[in-house]
Amino acid sequence: MKSHFQVKDGVLIGAQQLSSPNYNQRPENTEICLIVVHNISLPPSQFGGGYIQQFFQNQLDWRLHPYFETIQGMQVSAHLLILRSGEVIQFVNFQDRAWHAGRSQYLGQVECNDYSIGIELEGSDDLPFEDIQYERLSEVTQLLQHTYPKIMQHLAGHSDIAPVRKTDPGPFFDWRYFRRLLDSKKTEFGHDFATK
Ligand SMILES: [Zn+2]
Repeated sequence: MKSHFQVKDGVLIGAQQLSSPNYNQRPENTEICLIVVHNISLPPSQFGGGYIQQFFQNQLDWRLHPYFETIQGMQVSAHLLILRSGEVIQFVNFQDRAWHAGRSQYLGQVECNDYSIGIELEGSDDLPFEDIQYERLSEVTQLLQHTYPKIMQHLAGHSDIAPVRKTDPGPFFDWRYFRRLLDSKKTEFGHDFATK
């Protein structure tokens, strides 16, 4: 199966592009070596509506829902958002530093935003994710592992890098299934390259 996506100059070709102002430069000489998986839904556990996109673009109308007032003024982003439909949206160029992890630590290295790519799944801690989201996540992850080889198998949840503060992607995120999909794609990808 041919991938739906390609990475060129930090842009995920094949994804919808919406730009977030919430990013800055990665520290000099920082190599991307981690993928952080998150979940987000606005309002919590409700899907659709486009509020996450508006939130990442600092365009969310805080008056629309009482929950929105609790996150008013927060400036956050992720490199990618995968909607329930499987649609993938890019908000920040991979070469830039998105603001998704907050205070965090992975294998003794603090400030994960510096060296990671953040991928949000539209979802919540109390509901299963859609199959198509796992499909797209593994497809994109596999491509990023190929593009940024230092990532290797460094895949973490937000709750792994900020365990006291964060619970996402939550108990419904099936890591075993995700890794199994990745393994099956590795074979496909390898084959694809070998036959080019
Ligand atoms: Zn998160």
